[in-house]
Amino acid sequence: MTKFIFVTGGVISALGKGIAAASMGMLLESHGYKITLQKLDPYLNVDPGTMSPFQHGEVYVTDDGSETDLDLGHYERFTSTKTTQAHNWTTGKIYDSILRKERRGKYLGKTVQVIPHVTDEIKRAFYAVAEGNDIVIVEIGGTVGDIESLPFLEATRQMRLSLGKENTLFIHLTLVPYVKTSGELKTKPTQHSVKELRAIGIQPDIILCRTDRFLSKDIKAKISLFTNVPLEAVITAKDVDNIYEIPLGFAKEGLDLIILKELKLPPKKRRLTQWKKMVNRMKTPRDEVRIALIGKYAGLQDSYMSLKQALDHAGTAHQLKVNISWIEAEELETRKAEKVLKDADGILVPGGFGIRGIEGKINAVSFARKNKIPFFGICLGMQCATIEFARNVASLPGANSSEFNPKTPHKIFFKWRELKGVQDLGGTMRLGQFLCRLEKGSFAEKAYGRLNVYERHRHRYEFNPQYEETLSKAGLFISGKNPDYNLVEIVEIRNHPWFLGCQFHPEFKSKPVKFHPLFKAFIGASYVYRSKRNKNQQQV
Ligand code: GLN
Repeated sequence: MTKFIFVTGGVISALGKGIAAASMGMLLESHGYKITLQKLDPYLNVDPGTMSPFQHGEVYVTDDGSETDLDLGHYERFTSTKTTQAHNWTTGKIYDSILRKERRGKYLGKTVQVIPHVTDEIKRAFYAVAEGNDIVIVEIGGTVGDIESLPFLEATRQMRLSLGKENTLFIHLTLVPYVKTSGELKTKPTQHSVKELRAIGIQPDIILCRTDRFLSKDIKAKISLFTNVPLEAVITAKDVDNIYEIPLGFAKEGLDLIILKELKLPPKKRRLTQWKKMVNRMKTPRDEVRIALIGKYAGLQDSYMSLKQALDHAGTAHQLKVNISWIEAEELETRKAEKVLKDADGILVPGGFGIRGIEGKINAVSFARKNKIPFFGICLGMQCATIEFARNVASLPGANSSEFNPKTPHKIFFKWRELKGVQDLGGTMRLGQFLCRLEKGSFAEKAYGRLNVYERHRHRYEFNPQYEETLSKAGLFISGKNPDYNLVEIVEIRNHPWFLGCQFHPEFKSKPVKFHPLFKAFIGASYVYRSKRNKNQQQV
């Protein structure tokens, strides 16, 4: 029978509940258990696909093409779970499914209510990911005490009632702040937040205390007394520099052993060697490499969560520290690229939507192409690279994507689905995993070491097949295509150390212990560029 762990958060948001849940998953998996993780979000949007990355951070895309919360990215990076649309539910999605049923007459004669109808629907969501797993870890978004998350919490309370203590576990993550003026750690916020939980009938079994220092036995005893949680189950979740250290910290505190004991599952020998090695490599780089990331939301780094992780993973593969220069694309519209990008060992233009900053991104591409600086364009970045090539190499002035100029004389990218008559904003994206067939001898083929790869997409515009021949003749190497729809997926420039743009988002598939080949190749090329430049400077 599948067991459920419910992870809630107290005191404030942004305590790192997602990473904490993912870390638990990683540890339980290291004992040989089959696990998965699920996220419930209290907001009313059906999914985060239409939310601004400013507000919500990155939209993480799964293989099945769901647009989900960025915590699912952590789940996939820390564990071997493959997430799907069933792994992320919002209040909006729960109500959407209830209201559809109501209209179809499924509740005929009944008054549809939060309890039991909404809570039943939530419980169905829990079970939707249970099959084949020993343990499901469910992360409840928001903070205990918010009105919005009450139905989710009520559903978890009912789960305990029907499945019993050894099949359900409540883990509460709180903040234990250090107050400088009095030189003390404060437990009161934790006491209050647990009180909130108990008021709705939930007694946490384990408390994770987010803090900047280790908790003394006295502090733990105080928290234990006030929250009615056994002393051994009050766990320090100390701040760390590197998120991948968190499972190791939990293991030291014995968190996994307590979980298994509570769930009456025998512990096995933890296998953490590979993970520890990875963390060590990450923490002891032999050198550094500087990547300029030309973004639009550079002020909010959460909107590039997976990208940043993928770069770190690739750095680890080379034992290099990747320093990212977050550059606002618009800056490259007013200031010279030579100035803004002078320290860059590699230039990356990531995904994005809308016209703001486009010309700045295109200027960055030009600079990378002409100066033979390693370049990686992802989704929008690939589109910018192709447009730059069309304008400046293939002599197609004004070339553009119809997203940025519908009247362009050379529509290099166009809304492919327009042809199919899909108009609804939610339905026009190419989402999820597609096959990409690579050309022999390309940068891509060299990186992946095979010819067929599957990668995830999230975009509305496509390379216009009418321009394939013209651009190829001018020297653009189309090195990856989707055979089913005959769509261009990768473009490269050959007489360049490394210049590649891909229509998909490889960052979603990178893991710390299984870095992504394209990121590895890009970082490798950037380091070669850096070393050469350093040598030249020494000679001068
Ligand atoms: N805006 C572009 C499109 O819709 C690129 C999207 C992206 O980078 N994810 O095609």
